Amino acid sequence: MSNTNFALAVEDLSVSFDGFKAIDDLTLYVDKNELRVIIGPNGAGKTTLLDLICGRTKESGGSIKFRNEELTGIDEYLRVRKGIGRKFQTPSIYENLSVFKNLEVSYPQGRSVWGALRFKCSDAVRQRVHEVASEIGLANVLDQESGLLSHGQKQWLEIGMLLMQEPQLLMLDEPIAGMSARERELTADLLKRICVGRSVIVIEHDMAFVAQIAHKVTVMHQGKILAEGSMEAVQSNPKVIDVYLGH
Ligand code: ADP
Ligand code: MG
Repeated sequence: MSNTNFALAVEDLSVSFDGFKAIDDLTLYVDKNELRVIIGPNGAGKTTLLDLICGRTKESGGSIKFRNEELTGIDEYLRVRKGIGRKFQTPSIYENLSVFKNLEVSYPQGRSVWGALRFKCSDAVRQRVHEVASEIGLANVLDQESGLLSHGQKQWLEIGMLLMQEPQLLMLDEPIAGMSARERELTADLLKRICVGRSVIVIEHDMAFVAQIAHKVTVMHQGKILAEGSMEAVQSNPKVIDVYLGH
């Protein structure tokens, strides 16, 4: 009973760690152009779900289809080539390299014949670096060493490194942790822009931030989906208040 109209279709997905069901028969659909936020208490299985989608963790059962193609059984690096981008909680930028270099090295050279035609390609790469740098608000610090960026700027750089690969599904785990109020605002604007033409999944705890960005909210609890819908619907759901928002 697969639903082929969605960009991402996760169906009956499960994973156990030593007999403990971290993801328990979970079904989730995400549209193209959609920004979905996943919330839920610690240990609900949110990060594990992203690990399964990007191929870092192997499921015990179920299906993950992206644009109608089955992803389970496909290696993590091949899923990246299929357009799956994942940002982890701790940024993994090259601190000694400039912002420009960080973006440049993230350009997917090996993916096309252009990799062999480096000279022809370099203009295209440079142009893409500039596009992405403006998108993430770092166009004026391209020559700066990345280690000297603010915490927020480092997070944006990492998002930019993912954008260089033009992902069709972008997954971000707690992207505003440690950010200032101003950086949070700018991140909300950024996420609203970058979900256009692709799908974005964000795990987040800050409900004010969630309200700002979410098209739809999925609430996870004990490896299952507890509730799903608009921010308003989810916030007034007694089950959600009981296990999460009430605390
Ligand atoms: P969340 O991101 O919602 O806080 P996680 O997905 O990190 O939750 O974890 C869900 C549950 O699965 C937790 O109980 C966690 O301890 C367990 N878990 C996650 N990854 C592993 C792993 N690789 N090995 C064993 N247990 C794990
Ligand atoms: Mg987590």
